[in-house]
Amino acid sequence: MKKVAIFGSTGSIGESTLNVIRENKDKFEVVTLVAGKNIEKLIEQIKEFQPKNVYIIDKENADRLKETFKNINIYYGDVGMEEISQLVDFDISISALVGIAGLKPTYNMIKNGKTVALANKEVLVAGGELIMKTAKENNAKLLTVDSEHSAIMQCLNGEENNEIDKILLTASGGPFFDKEITDKITVEEALNHPTWSMGKKVTIDSSTMMNKGFEVIEAKWLFNVEPSQIEVVVHRKSLVHSMVQFKDGTIMANIGPKSMQIPIAYALNFPNRLPNNIEKLNLFEIVDLKFEKPDLNKFKCLQLAYEAIKRGHSFQVVLNAANEVLVDSFLNKKIKYTDIPLGIEKVMNCYEKRQLKTVEEILDFDKEVREKTREIMM
Ligand code: NDP
Repeated sequence: MKKVAIFGSTGSIGESTLNVIRENKDKFEVVTLVAGKNIEKLIEQIKEFQPKNVYIIDKENADRLKETFKNINIYYGDVGMEEISQLVDFDISISALVGIAGLKPTYNMIKNGKTVALANKEVLVAGGELIMKTAKENNAKLLTVDSEHSAIMQCLNGEENNEIDKILLTASGGPFFDKEITDKITVEEALNHPTWSMGKKVTIDSSTMMNKGFEVIEAKWLFNVEPSQIEVVVHRKSLVHSMVQFKDGTIMANIGPKSMQIPIAYALNFPNRLPNNIEKLNLFEIVDLKFEKPDLNKFKCLQLAYEAIKRGHSFQVVLNAANEVLVDSFLNKKIKYTDIPLGIEKVMNCYEKRQLKTVEEILDFDKEVREKTREIMM
């Protein structure tokens, strides 16, 4: 039995992870569930999976859980997050909080030499160098459940990274690839993703293609390649999950059904696959596999991500923090859709390059950038 900790259990990735575990109860046991605010969903999960450790943000909710579940360790608040992420009673953790909130807990688990399957890409955007270095120093295994990166990991299948010519990172293009981007775009339109059903923040990031920019940074760290070796390829059908082109011109592609349960199951049972009930692809029904170039003038967020990569680490922290504040403001209908790239660019231009070595330095700078973003854009 593999013991599993799920950070972000009530979210889209968290629920898909629990679906995999539900179908494989003889292989996995849930020991930790971490959620934000959704207490009703968390209670259902506790009843079904009976974990030992549970986290929820607010004290009031934590008190309610303590009343109901007397034999479970309940954590809450900043101190509770620090404590629950320092526990070592699991074999693999799914890191699926959203945004910068995932950085410190993921760092703690890696520092403790644990195996972490990363969904939360913002962790590598804000702290890639630190996370990779800490993983190496502490012999922690870092796996990925992001579908594109899982695909790349599978295409590499143990080959040395000096065999790579380039990584072909596929993108769905989101809801606006064939439409004009205007300041009239509504929250509902931006949340209407053509191929994937995901949490709200990542869905907006997909629509602006910031998500792909983040994934370029994620790929650079996970596979130790130069950003110039990563090419974004728009593939509207989301059937090719990514590809690797090797030095001899051979391209290995990972093709499969659109379900996050597949990369999650692959990480949970790594390096072995798990059978599932997901409908297999019928190749005869796939008319063509079209690939297109993204338009960086239209998808300004992707261009800003490339710029942040060029300008160095502290700009990636700015990119992530400003984006998080602006996406949240857009979701709350406080700013226009087009204010997202506009605001990020303005905030990036406020800063000079900085050295950020520790997780505390990154988090302090992240906080500063959030304040600056609010000052400029609200
Ligand atoms: P969701 O918004 O659906 O879920 C986020 C989860 O994190 C929820 O369980 C939420 O709790 C919890 N959470 C958020 N903030 C906190 C906090 N401060 N403390 C404790 N818990 C918190 O996001 P997704 O599942 O869609 O995405 C998670 C991550 O995975 C993101 O980084 C995303 O980019 C990445 N990813 C997602 C994919 C997908 O298909 N969804 C694909 C690839 C990557 P609650 O809901 O209870 O408030």
